[in-house]
Amino acid sequence: MHDVLVIGDGPAGSQVAYRLAGQGYDVAVLGKKEPGSQVCCTGIISQVCANAFAIDEGTILGRVRSARIFAPSGKLIELWRRENQACIINRSAFDVSMANRAQSNGAQYMPSSPAKSLTVEGDRVVVELTRGEANLKIEARAAVVATGFGTRLVEGLGKIGDFVIGAQAEVETRDIDEVEVYLGQEIAPGFFAWLVPTSPPMARVGLLARRNPEFYIRKLLSSLHAQGKVVSDEESPSYRGVPLQPLARTYGERVLVVGDAAGQVKPTTGGGIYYGLMCADIAAHNLGRALEKDNLSAKSLASYEREWKRKLGRELRIGYWGRRFFEHLNDKQIDRIFDIIKANGIDDTLLKADDLPFDSHGKAILRLVGQRALSRALRVMKVPFRIGTQFS
Ligand SMILES: Cc1cc2nc3c(=O)[nH]c(=O)nc-3n(C[C@H](O)[C@H](O)[C@H](O)COP(=O)(O)OP(=O)(O)OC[C@H]3O[C@@H](n4cnc5c(N)ncnc54)[C@H](O)[C@@H]3O)c2cc1C
Repeated sequence: MHDVLVIGDGPAGSQVAYRLAGQGYDVAVLGKKEPGSQVCCTGIISQVCANAFAIDEGTILGRVRSARIFAPSGKLIELWRRENQACIINRSAFDVSMANRAQSNGAQYMPSSPAKSLTVEGDRVVVELTRGEANLKIEARAAVVATGFGTRLVEGLGKIGDFVIGAQAEVETRDIDEVEVYLGQEIAPGFFAWLVPTSPPMARVGLLARRNPEFYIRKLLSSLHAQGKVVSDEESPSYRGVPLQPLARTYGERVLVVGDAAGQVKPTTGGGIYYGLMCADIAAHNLGRALEKDNLSAKSLASYEREWKRKLGRELRIGYWGRRFFEHLNDKQIDRIFDIIKANGIDDTLLKADDLPFDSHGKAILRLVGQRALSRALRVMKVPFRIGTQFS
């Protein structure tokens, strides 16, 4: 019997496996296929994340310190900082490197072994999986579910409160050397779309949308073709669900849930790599302690949720509030907000401020709505933007 069975071989699963194997536990990791073979991700992580988790330099395609943000009318705000803010990683290579690191600590990977069910039976968890034609059972003292969004393995722990669909295609571009972000109800209703150069001339075009992602990604690709920004002949977008709120409960008897499966994602952008890695470390720390004491009850594992919520809960709540607020704006209102930001120099004084971390959108949201010019305009536009003590 293993000490821990990690279900899912993405960044969150591999980070938990790396840490727990490093503590000397017998860890096995199940994957649906080979690590890195099923990714749908733009691969932007902050420089802070790259440093904190010692991300393999070989997986970094480029660095970002500026972005061009287009309002629905085409008006432009350019943001830049003196220092590099983010890295663009090769997501497949990154997943492989994270898996290699866990294996070098002793974790045992079982690719092409999707888990079908997870049950707790007395002093162990039992996972049923398929490998080729065979159905197998595997046992461990505890399980970590890190399957990404939309797993049925944790139905007993409630639901993810809200989610959206992400779409992305690899494209060939011309004359694009900066990240571009597009806003507008006709581009990505309620959300946003992006063009991110990776290794020239290649780039990733993507968007988040609650409805019709196939329609909107096709429309976006046609528009970028028409503008001469995208020049490839054919693109096949891929799609994936992105949680916007956490799972109701992220721990149970002998079980923890991490990463997208737990909804540990920035509700503003859908970025989940950094938060997933942070929570993976918290999971490994708490599970390690529980294994040592041989107390794997839900009560004992609740410390994991308390700790990750202490770190990220407020940020997730403000981010979600900001997200819902943004979803209620129409194109005219977004354009008006752009005008106010530019006219009042808010882009220079606030959005480029060095003390606004790339990963903390809550702080930026609170500062933005705290701007008198903006809050006055929102009142005039009758946008419901009351922000009260709920975030204190
Ligand atoms: C279009 C798009 C763009 C994105 N861009 C960014 C970005 O730029 N930056 C960022 O930070 N985030 C981004 N994200 C989000 C990011 O991809 C996720 O937050 C991140 O991949 C979550 O990592 P994870 O390890 O929790 O899950 P995943 O990366 O989904 O990994 C889960 C793994 O588990 C495997 N698995 C699933 N079910 C089973 C099973 N039953 N048995 C065994 N294995 C299983 C899967 O095959 C997969 O390999 C984007 C998402 C989308 C959709």
